[in-house]
Amino acid sequence: MASRIHILPDGLMKRIAAGEVVERPASVAKELIENSLDAGATSITVAVQNAGVDLVQVIDNGEGMSEEDALICCERHATSKISRDEDLEAITTLGFRGEALASIASVSRMRMITMQAGVEEATEVELYGGEIREVLKTAANPGTSIAVKDLFFNVPARRKFLKSPATELRHLILVFRRLAMAYPEIDFRLHVNDEKTQDLRPSGQEERIGSLVAGRRNGSLISFENASGPAVLKGYISRPGEGRRSRDDQFVFLNRRFILNKSITHAVLSAYGSRLPRDEYPVYVLFLEMDPRQFDVNVHPMKIEVRFRDERFLHNMIHRAVGDALSSSRVVPNLQLVTGGGRPHRHKGKMTVDPVDYGQLTLEVQRPVSSGGSESPGRGISGAAAFWQLHNRYILTPIKSGLIIIDQHVAHERILFERVLNARERNGVLSQQLLFPQTVLLSPDDFHTLMEMLPSLQKIGFGIKDFGKFTVVIESVPAEIKTGNERDLLLDIIDEYKNLRHKITDIWEAVASAFACKAAIKSGDPLNLMEMASLMDQLFATREPYFCPHGRPIIINLPLEELDKRFGR
Ligand code: ADP
Ligand code: MG
Repeated sequence: MASRIHILPDGLMKRIAAGEVVERPASVAKELIENSLDAGATSITVAVQNAGVDLVQVIDNGEGMSEEDALICCERHATSKISRDEDLEAITTLGFRGEALASIASVSRMRMITMQAGVEEATEVELYGGEIREVLKTAANPGTSIAVKDLFFNVPARRKFLKSPATELRHLILVFRRLAMAYPEIDFRLHVNDEKTQDLRPSGQEERIGSLVAGRRNGSLISFENASGPAVLKGYISRPGEGRRSRDDQFVFLNRRFILNKSITHAVLSAYGSRLPRDEYPVYVLFLEMDPRQFDVNVHPMKIEVRFRDERFLHNMIHRAVGDALSSSRVVPNLQLVTGGGRPHRHKGKMTVDPVDYGQLTLEVQRPVSSGGSESPGRGISGAAAFWQLHNRYILTPIKSGLIIIDQHVAHERILFERVLNARERNGVLSQQLLFPQTVLLSPDDFHTLMEMLPSLQKIGFGIKDFGKFTVVIESVPAEIKTGNERDLLLDIIDEYKNLRHKITDIWEAVASAFACKAAIKSGDPLNLMEMASLMDQLFATREPYFCPHGRPIIINLPLEELDKRFGR
């Protein structure tokens, strides 16, 4: 069959980002798997020995190579993927530099067996440090198998540079996961030291992510789609509170190529913002599809960094899409009842959370059951709702699809937090004058802290005067809080602010959080029907009714379905 591979012309060669691609066994695996994908394989098997140092072998059922191509593919700048300058402007294959096989072959012993469909015999090529040693005809299936042995056997300095087998294997598995995640329709297998460690059958995107990201079964990530301008974005992200302690499970793919991009990372993290509990990193998998003319992959030899034409646009788009997904009602966790027998196959004996489509939350409230005709002045949910308070801590209210349970403290915290954040944009909030101003003597440390907070506190609605000698007088407080214990409240806010200052750099936000936490209704405060109704109304008027400023859930859903299941209906 005709040859397709050619050596790139000089001019084009010079325009290609130069640099080494073979750093470690993982790089070998990456380049070989990418070649298999470019060759249209639907099944790819990777086998490694000794973390890939002794062997990295990739076997595919792709289009294979003719003998002529098999002989030339390991030359520098030999590629079938681009041929003209213009091709560089719109790369649609994973490879294009024609360097990988040459680089890998030059630092290993390589054996390649390849065959095109409809041909009688396969070509087998044996190379030693890049030199062809033997060419044979053999029997094989259509496709290509490349075995790379004894990596860096002829460059001891680089071999010494390799990390422990555990680390090298970790890199290699990461490469495998990235590629398998981007190509869910492809059969991917991984054998480590003769043991099959991954066997991924063709599947949908979400299922593939589920098999590759620790502890993420189907549906535990929020998914969303967004198309705007030149980009289509599909994303899977963890709910606040369900992320990880490390950044390991963060993936961004551009036209199915894994990339690292600071601006995208920033867009995602800043969209989570304060929703994220401390020390938590979100799990996210983003797939971007863009016209290849909108970005340049020819900037980094390993093509892990790309240059976008309009990075700002992309940042804003991703930030908005992630933010929208996180504020949607789909983030409300479902309560699945703890089981004590019954139907063990359904209930695994622990509380798990599941996504629900929750768009109806504010509208589908039941008619009053026990509210005794109390007419709430509010609108929306309270207008026709029944409320129960459980242990002076949780508020229960029926909705069309079941029951929701609200944590009264975090609900009020969210309301106050948003109110003071809004006060920053407008001009403060209403305050109420105290009948008896309260004098508070502070420690020098607390006094200085208070002075730092004062401008923000004043905007929130506190009237506080400095009386000298570490004494202040509270003359007024924000209108919406219960009066009577202003002194304790102020001290609590100062303490909380001191705790928060370590992690929140923005003074205003730290003051807002401290205030919201300490001024909110407490767990243990009894509430009457009117107070519950008003709390609900205010909660659903916030931008983020589902999570508190620290990322804890405010609402949990108990679906009717779940109850029906439990009662065997
Ligand atoms: P590039 O991928 O940048 O073109 P490589 O050095 O990785 O460069 O590969 C050189 C050429 O060898 C490819 O362009 C392709 O034509 C051929 N090739 C490599 N691996 C395979 C494979 N698994 N199946 C079919 N052809 C392959
Ligand atoms: Mg390649």
